[in-house]
Amino acid sequence: MDEIYLNGSFLARSEAQISIMDRGFLFGDGVYELIPVFNKKVFLLEQHLQRLKNSLNLIQMDEVKGLDKIINTLVNKNTKNTFFIYLHITRGPQQYRNHIYSDETEPTVLLMCEDYPQFSDDLIKKGFKGTVQDDFRWMKSNIKSISLLGNVLLKNYASTNGCYETLLIRNKKLTEGSTSNVFLVKDGSIYTPKLSNELLPGVTRDLLIRLLHKNNLKVLESDIYESDIAEADEIWCSSSTNAVVPIVKLDGNMIKDGKVGPVTTEVYTIVQDFIMNF
Ligand code: PLP
Repeated sequence: MDEIYLNGSFLARSEAQISIMDRGFLFGDGVYELIPVFNKKVFLLEQHLQRLKNSLNLIQMDEVKGLDKIINTLVNKNTKNTFFIYLHITRGPQQYRNHIYSDETEPTVLLMCEDYPQFSDDLIKKGFKGTVQDDFRWMKSNIKSISLLGNVLLKNYASTNGCYETLLIRNKKLTEGSTSNVFLVKDGSIYTPKLSNELLPGVTRDLLIRLLHKNNLKVLESDIYESDIAEADEIWCSSSTNAVVPIVKLDGNMIKDGKVGPVTTEVYTIVQDFIMNF
């Protein structure tokens, strides 16, 4: 678990070093991915690498080749079966601190294995609390950028208020959560905000839409207004760390009867089944 990959070498985490002139360190100039490994199998690798390619492209960086081989080596070296690969690429170090990037920088490429809390079935059955805040982040949230200060502040707002997640509102519309995408059920229909520059195209979001479709449950990708959230029958958050996290209370108000609803339970079962059989 302690061995990481940095710029061509596998080495102990405690021995890894990067330059203080790295643009990732100075400017948050880079992108990342978080890829689950379930039972030694890398989950939806192609989709994660495709999103990484898009993120790199959107910040005018070239694709980095050979990542799949590095990931496989890390998976084989790790004694654990289930964990996450954290993949972090910055524009690299530059001689002088300058907003303008030089064409000559070599990217810094870091991959390491990380553990994240996986909620037990019992916790999922109870559901989680959420809170709603203004989405004050930048207008390119479709890039999986390492500049995460906005998300960090919003996630900590949730945490200090005893909540799992902060749902974000921009121009009266739901965008996503601070670390997740959001789904909502109203009168038997399932909704999620449509993709735009205001939210991350979640790999789990996409998986859930496909799995639900297969199970004859249609998801409508549409605008969701703040008022729709208050009137929702069910809400859940999706991300690679926990595919379906039911929200049963928002800012102290119960969602419907404050219990995890039937659609959320069904989606959770469908996705857990898919993961188990992947
Ligand atoms: N939105 C944000 C802001 C996130 O940070 C994440 C995950 O980290 C997601 C959505 C969910 O994306 P994925 O399902 O690819 O993990």
